[in-house]
Amino acid sequence: MEYPAYPPRPSKEEADFINATAIDWSLGNGLAMLSPEGKGVTAVHAPITVYPSPFPKSAMTNALAVQTAFNELYARVANNEEWLRESLADDFTGKLWESYLKVKATGLTQHLTLGLFRSDYIVDKHAKGYQGSAAIKQIEFNTVSISFGALSSKVSQLHNYLSESGTYGETGKQIEPSVSDSLVKLADGLAIGHKEYIATANPAGKTAVLFVVQPGERNVFDQRHLEYRLYEAYGIISYRLTLAEIRAQTKYVKDAAAGFTRLVHTASGAEISLVYYRSGYAPTDYPSETEWDARVYLESTHAIKCPSLLTQISGSKKIQQILTDPAVIRQFIPETEPALVDQLEATFVKIHPMDDSPAGLKAREVAFATPGRFVLKPQREGGGNNIYKENIPDFLRSIPEDTWGAYILMELIVPPDFNNKILRAGEIYDGEIISELGVFGTALWNQKTAEIKHNEQAGWLLRSKFKSSDEGGVAAGFGCIDSVYLF
Ligand code: ADP
Ligand code: MG
Ligand code: MG
Repeated sequence: MEYPAYPPRPSKEEADFINATAIDWSLGNGLAMLSPEGKGVTAVHAPITVYPSPFPKSAMTNALAVQTAFNELYARVANNEEWLRESLADDFTGKLWESYLKVKATGLTQHLTLGLFRSDYIVDKHAKGYQGSAAIKQIEFNTVSISFGALSSKVSQLHNYLSESGTYGETGKQIEPSVSDSLVKLADGLAIGHKEYIATANPAGKTAVLFVVQPGERNVFDQRHLEYRLYEAYGIISYRLTLAEIRAQTKYVKDAAAGFTRLVHTASGAEISLVYYRSGYAPTDYPSETEWDARVYLESTHAIKCPSLLTQISGSKKIQQILTDPAVIRQFIPETEPALVDQLEATFVKIHPMDDSPAGLKAREVAFATPGRFVLKPQREGGGNNIYKENIPDFLRSIPEDTWGAYILMELIVPPDFNNKILRAGEIYDGEIISELGVFGTALWNQKTAEIKHNEQAGWLLRSKFKSSDEGGVAAGFGCIDSVYLF
């Protein structure tokens, strides 16, 4: 596939003007993060591309088209407790499961769960996609603490502003960025969860959404924009607490008549409708039993969780691997249109187990024989955890063989590269970059009755990085936020 000649080549003067305008816009509009050394009061513009990156229209159409089907698939997976139990692969997912069992033993009352999801893809330059389109291949499906929905809207607005205001100049005239409505749509999703709680739990007084956040979070504005949008569009107030603060700053109020326990934010007296996790996805979020205890406690209240423990577990890499089996995916969405299932499967690449099943034993062999074709992934989220290509054999030799089953072996996808400029902490870097598209989705469903009350595609995110780095985590410092210019 031919990518358009890119990017434009402004003169030094024009380029300086574009960069200065982009930085002002970013700081003025909260396309920003807290700076590492700023003691929580100094912000820096988010790492961004100067121009939107070209992205094939047919690939975008496909990625958007399958989102609600993926939302439904993962909702069904999260409802199937028995099956999930058999798919646990490591200590961390095991601990999430144990936490769920603890809550279940005391009587789980809230069966509604909210999912804010993000399905991530890379365009495969060697493959054809569904019905001959540019091929998008799924990297992973995230069910907890998905980020950059708000900053994605902001960066696409910035690129649009630079384009429409003429800041890109003569050389950048043809650029037409597409704006992602993920900020609005994700906030809508949270509001749907909040309203459903009010409709079903009949709180008497004030209500609020609780954001569970990491201590020392730098990517706060991506979260804050959702809070501000909830307030502006719906009048919904949010509070922020870390897992360690939960017990001291909230209380349980048993409602005998209703038959459940209300979660109340102590300082404000507001009843919490929805617990939205922007933490709790990594072992480092649980440095002690205090944090695990807080997680169990929150799950046991009647507030709706985004996500529930079972929904979080459903997003593990092991589950993703198992779902690439055609028989398994059909078991979960038997009545879904066959063509739609084909369309989902067209986004899959081969993912192998690394356990001691016959398929796993075979995968172990190929991992040692041809590691250059693969990425090895543990059951972890948040970037920086994978082992790539030639590093795989030594890594495997360095850990006990009976823990290999906690990994999956995935075929590497090779995306097309193109040039763009990256603006990071005021400095410009030129180079060959590659992009990863994330499509957001929101869903609200009942895990007991399986009724899906809401299911929507919720905009997108493009993250880009230099071709030379293996991983693209923006917060981790490898990548940047981008927008799409469809061609
Ligand atoms: P995490 O949950 O930590 O984000 P990912 O599965 O998204 O884990 O992997 C992290 C990064 O590794 C991705 O953003 C992508 O840059 C790279 N990556 C993962 N899987 C593949 C793959 N199959 N082919 C190419 N790159 C990949
Ligand atoms: Mg992930
Ligand atoms: Mg990822």
